[in-house]
Amino acid sequence: MKVFKFGGASVKDAEAVRNVGRIIARFSGEKLLVVISAMGKSTNKLEDLVDAFWKNDEAKKRNIIADLKDFHYKIANDLISDQKHHIYSNLEDLFMELECLVEKRYPNAAYDEIYDGVICYGELLSTKIVSDYLSSVDTKNKWVDARNFIQTDSNFREGRVKWSETEDTIKRILKPYIDRNMVISQGFIGRDEHNNTTTLGREGSDYTAAIFAYCLEANDVTIWKDVAGVMNADPKKFDKAVKLDAINYNQAIELAYYGASVIHPKTIQPLKSKNIQLYVNSFINIDDKGTVVNNDAPALSNECYIVKDQQTLLSISTKNYSFIAEDNLSRIFEHFAKHKVRINVMQNSAISFSACCDTKETKIDELCAALSSEYSVEQESNCTLLTIYNAKNEIEMPAQFSEQTALLKQVLGAATQVVLKAKA
Ligand code: ASP
Ligand code: MG
Repeated sequence: MKVFKFGGASVKDAEAVRNVGRIIARFSGEKLLVVISAMGKSTNKLEDLVDAFWKNDEAKKRNIIADLKDFHYKIANDLISDQKHHIYSNLEDLFMELECLVEKRYPNAAYDEIYDGVICYGELLSTKIVSDYLSSVDTKNKWVDARNFIQTDSNFREGRVKWSETEDTIKRILKPYIDRNMVISQGFIGRDEHNNTTTLGREGSDYTAAIFAYCLEANDVTIWKDVAGVMNADPKKFDKAVKLDAINYNQAIELAYYGASVIHPKTIQPLKSKNIQLYVNSFINIDDKGTVVNNDAPALSNECYIVKDQQTLLSISTKNYSFIAEDNLSRIFEHFAKHKVRINVMQNSAISFSACCDTKETKIDELCAALSSEYSVEQESNCTLLTIYNAKNEIEMPAQFSEQTALLKQVLGAATQVVLKAKA
C-alpha cells in the first residue's frame, strides 16, 4: 500500500490537476491513498474570510466568497465542461455550507474553533474537484472525508492526534476500501469528540499522509513537490543548493525541526516508528529521482542552510536584577505556552532571556504585554534566523548574510543558529 500527498502548488490550476491525474494513473495497479491539500493559496484566502467574519465585515466576506467561487469554478470548468456533471452540484453544496457557516454568529465559540470550521473548506473543495475529475477520465476512486478518520483533541488549529482511536477506525473501516479502490482524502483536517472540525496546523497535510501511512502500515509515502527533492538550502536563496539523495530519519527530523520547509516537522516520527520510507519527488519531472528518507541512509556529508525570515527577537530581563533561573524561567515559559507563541531558538544569560519567534505568531503583542508586568521586554522585528546544520569546523557566513549583525548565536550539537538583522 502507498500513500501519496499532493500540496497546494500541485493542484493550483486545471493543468496541475491533469498532471496529478497523469501521475496517479501510473500507479493504477497499486493500493493507493491520495492526500490532497487546498488548491493554490486558497487556505490564505479562507484565513481572510475567518478574519472578515470575526470583524463582521459583510462586504469583505462577500468578496472573498466570490473570489473563492470564481477560482474553484474556473478550475472545474476547465476540467469538466459539461455543466450537468455532478461536480457542479458537489461544489454548490460545499459553497452553500460555507456561506451558511459564516452567516450565523456563534457567541460561545472562540476564534480558533471558527477558524477550523471554515478553513477546512479549502481541502474539501479541492478533493471534490480532483476526485470528480479523476472519475471523469475513468480513474476509479473514492472520495473520503478525512475528518471521519483523523481524530484529535479539541486543541483547535493544532489538533493533537488521538492515535489509538484513529488507528482503529482507519484499520477497520478505511483499509478495506483502499484494498478495493483508490481513495482520495484531505490533508490537514480532523475532528474532535464533539464532532467539531479541527486542523493539524498550517502545512499539516504532510503530517496527515504520515498518520494514514502509520495506521495503514503502508510501504511508503511520496510527497510530490515543485522542487527536485529535499535540498541542502533553498535554491531561491542559495545558488549552490544541491539535492540530497538520501537522508536518515533522525537527520530528517532535525532538519524539519530547524525549519527546512520541504517536510512538515511532525511528519517523520510516525514513519520512523514503523520504518515506512518517505520519498520527496518532483511532480514536474516525474521520472527524476528525488530524495528518500529511511533508516539506512548514511549521515549527511553536506552542510545544510535553513533560513527563516520574518523573525522577532524578544529580550526579556528581570526588573529587579534577579537571576534568570528556574523560577523566572518557569514563569516566562508559562506565558509563552498560554499565548501559544512558539520559540524557534532561545538563550539565557544572568538577568536576561532571549527568544526568537515567527513574527506572524498572532499573540506576540499580548504575550509581551503580559510579560511586562514583571519583566522589561524588548522586541526586535525584521530578523532572520539562519541555521547551519552539519557545519564544517569553521563556520563561514554565507555571503548574502555577511553584512548583517548577529544578535544571537548558539551552537547546539550539529546545528549553529544565528539571529541576524540587517544593519540600519
Ligand atoms: N492547506 C493547508 C495549508 O495551506 C494545509 C497544507 O497545505 O498542508 O496550510
Ligand atoms: Mg500547502
